Amino acid sequence: MESDISQAFQEELICFICLSCLTEPVTISCGHSFCRACLQLSWEDPQLPVHCPMCREPCQQKEMRTNIVLKKLVSIVRQASLMKDLSSEEHKCVSHKETKRIFCVEGRIILCQLCSNSHEHRGHKHCPLEAAAEDEMERILKQMASLWEKIQENQENIEAENRTTTLWMDYVTLREEMIRTEYRELHPFLCKEEKKHIQCMRKESQYVLEKLRKSEARMVQKSKELRDMFQELMAMSQEPYVVLLQGLDDMVRRSESMQLSMPKGMQPELSALPITGLTKMLRQIQVHIFFDKITTFHYKMNLFNVLRKFSFGPHLKDTSEDSVGCYLASWESLKFISMKYYWEVDLQESGDWAVGVCEDSWLRNTNQIIDSEDAFLLVCVKEGNHCSLLTTCPLFRHYIERPLGRVGVLLDREDGCLSFINVAKSSLMYKYPAGTFKNPVQPFFSSGHEGKTFNPGH
Ligand SMILES: [Zn+2]
Ligand SMILES: [Zn+2]
Ligand SMILES: [Zn+2]
Ligand SMILES: [Zn+2]
Repeated sequence: MESDISQAFQEELICFICLSCLTEPVTISCGHSFCRACLQLSWEDPQLPVHCPMCREPCQQKEMRTNIVLKKLVSIVRQASLMKDLSSEEHKCVSHKETKRIFCVEGRIILCQLCSNSHEHRGHKHCPLEAAAEDEMERILKQMASLWEKIQENQENIEAENRTTTLWMDYVTLREEMIRTEYRELHPFLCKEEKKHIQCMRKESQYVLEKLRKSEARMVQKSKELRDMFQELMAMSQEPYVVLLQGLDDMVRRSESMQLSMPKGMQPELSALPITGLTKMLRQIQVHIFFDKITTFHYKMNLFNVLRKFSFGPHLKDTSEDSVGCYLASWESLKFISMKYYWEVDLQESGDWAVGVCEDSWLRNTNQIIDSEDAFLLVCVKEGNHCSLLTTCPLFRHYIERPLGRVGVLLDREDGCLSFINVAKSSLMYKYPAGTFKNPVQPFFSSGHEGKTFNPGH
């Protein structure tokens, strides 16, 4: 009778997915329970709702909470079978024929009382088996949790690398078209240079593309290794305590070292190739601009925070600093009548910066800082050692070498377009298509943080 109850009781602690005793049981909204790892693997697809593997009821949340009572019950059952295993003849101490009940932490072996007092084990840390078994179980669960996190991180990296590859190819195509147009307009006679320019770019882009593909392949390989390791740890967690107690060390070491070297995503960029005479020519129409109107952007709607998240991932925290934008009040104060204006902005040491033009409305409407269609900016955002260049309207990421020193801005009021120039390299960074804006615009500049000295145009 008693063993019938015990049998029935144990059957209730079996996981429907792996058919082993529940490990780290979690209970979902329908009331069914599974091993945490089993559920993680079967719910890996990011789509919601997920379904209960047993009754198929949809489950809106992926949050998994350990069922503490179930976990305790499983532990009682496993402890009992450990004691049963150890009292069998096969597990008795060979030298002393005694039941082993002590765990040697240093040697990671199970000992009988007499062995534990022997010369060999003097000075070792020894502890009762029950406690040691629970410790080892927690150790394996901790390892699985951190491995699972790395598996997810790596998966995100694979997807990001894949996206970068597509964006890179699109960018190179766009850039090639832009450079051709620029040569046609500026230097119809510089055919040779144009050809060379395009060739260099294609070669560089091909080289980067190969590197991107290799990088993605490395990540896919890593994903396989991590998953194999996860499965191995999972299988170990289902072993009887007597096996778990003696076989975990090497496995944990391998799992830890595997997590140390995670492949990182690439930050590809094209070199800024020069267009002969570009800077020199533009400087003939250069105006000096004094940025004399200052607006402060609260950090919650800080342009740089928004773009940093766009470039480097939504997990990034906002910086708590406000940023300051400077702009010119009106063109009338310049007393120019020309339709083309060219000015330069010295970026100095700024990590984050934005240059370009904006409409008056944009400065007044700070809520729509990025989605609005009245600010045409080249923005650089820094995260760690990486910088990302973007233009707004529409938001577009550029894979071009970052300008150091000065950025030139060419405003063509007649055509309603704008170009950005890497001054030191005499290279065109980006040119908006003609007809980009119709309303009056003003020069704009912002460095990432408040308190920097302004008037970078001088
Ligand atoms: Zn399971
Ligand atoms: Zn269910
Ligand atoms: Zn012994
Ligand atoms: Zn020992």
